[in-house]
Amino acid sequence: MNTTNSEKLYEQAKKFMPGGVNSPVRAFNSVGRSPLFIERAEGDKIYDADGNEFIDYVCSWGPNILGHGRPEVLEAVCRAVSKGLTFGACHRGEIELAELIRQCMPSMEMLRLVNSGTEAVMSAVRAARGYTHRDMIIKFKGCYHGHSDGLLVKGGSGLLTNSVPDSAGVPKGYTETTLLADYNNEKSVEELFDRYGKDIACIIVEPCAANMGVVPPKEGFLRFLRDITEKYSSLLIFDEVITGFRLSLGGAQQLYGITPDLTTLGKIVGGGMPLAAYGGRAEIMECVAPLGSVYQAGTLSGNPAAAAAGAATLKILMDDTHIYDELERKSARLEAAMREAGLNVNRAGSLLTAFFTDVPVTDHDSACTSYRQKYAEHFNRLLERGIYTAPSQFEAMFVSAAHTDEDIELTCKAFKNV
Ligand SMILES: *Cc1c(COP(=O)(O)O)cnc(C)c1O
Repeated sequence: MNTTNSEKLYEQAKKFMPGGVNSPVRAFNSVGRSPLFIERAEGDKIYDADGNEFIDYVCSWGPNILGHGRPEVLEAVCRAVSKGLTFGACHRGEIELAELIRQCMPSMEMLRLVNSGTEAVMSAVRAARGYTHRDMIIKFKGCYHGHSDGLLVKGGSGLLTNSVPDSAGVPKGYTETTLLADYNNEKSVEELFDRYGKDIACIIVEPCAANMGVVPPKEGFLRFLRDITEKYSSLLIFDEVITGFRLSLGGAQQLYGITPDLTTLGKIVGGGMPLAAYGGRAEIMECVAPLGSVYQAGTLSGNPAAAAAGAATLKILMDDTHIYDELERKSARLEAAMREAGLNVNRAGSLLTAFFTDVPVTDHDSACTSYRQKYAEHFNRLLERGIYTAPSQFEAMFVSAAHTDEDIELTCKAFKNV
């Protein structure tokens, strides 16, 4: 595989951006090669600066559930852009998107549009604290909730592969109110509530973890979180930035039948543009300014072009009743091929991760038993066969509606051969 153009671009990029990238996992550090520069993408394929073609299972880390460049989405963006890029004022597109979101996720009675998942989570946690008048929060080891200060504790995703246990530049005081529990471990949560119960504003959790690789919730785990937060009058926040509109139209909360107080969305909800959302029970969201005293704002929030991309994407997901069955069928086919190849796979719907360990992966500590050198080899061999997966162990493989049966079969063959 010739990658000389990508290598040249990488040398240039490094002069301007830390590590040549605008987000750390893009650097390919943990798979021992320099990053590919992508020229364009279409359907289930991406093309790099040397003209190499890959079947893409990164899907921009989740947003592209319809594949790349879906015509209806591109047209909606072009239509919006032709009327202006941003107004910094109210417009119809915001109402349309908010209504579609609430139709899919009725628990989001009221919501706010923001620009990134990080911002959505940061704001939801602030609303939870403002509503409860409490300071402490519980997060789980290996769950990633964006890069805001208070949540950069055992963060998952790039934080695991880059061996940065906590980030430099975060004052100790910012994380003192963040309590850590173990995913799928009810006792670890109970102990925190025994000790700090009356001070705990909320639990924030990925209802199906996907940032320590895919780790589905054990039977009863989410129910337990719902019950214990109710018992202590704390709030339950589902971070559905990955799982929203992916595990089902109504996200993980619909799939597992547990209703959180607040939900955060990102990735798919922006249809490939920078847009995210947080929302939940009206009573809580009414604490947010200008109605209430929890301040949160944004110059580009609800951007017209981004809202149009999100709305077009959600409409397709709502109208095409076969999409989720098809994603399930294709993903199950991939899982079967991976198992035949001897891989230890976790799967939830169209999210998959192969772990290079013999133990079942159910939490952060078991995920960390994966032999990362093997993952790197596996990644590189797939890449040489034209299959583009996440350049890091602690991520998911994303399947999209654009993946053709032919490409799924090619991928299954590649698994067998690598
Ligand atoms: C990606 C992600 C975020 C952060 O979203 P950004 O748009 O990258 O800021 C937060 N939570 C979860 C679960 C995510 O997967």
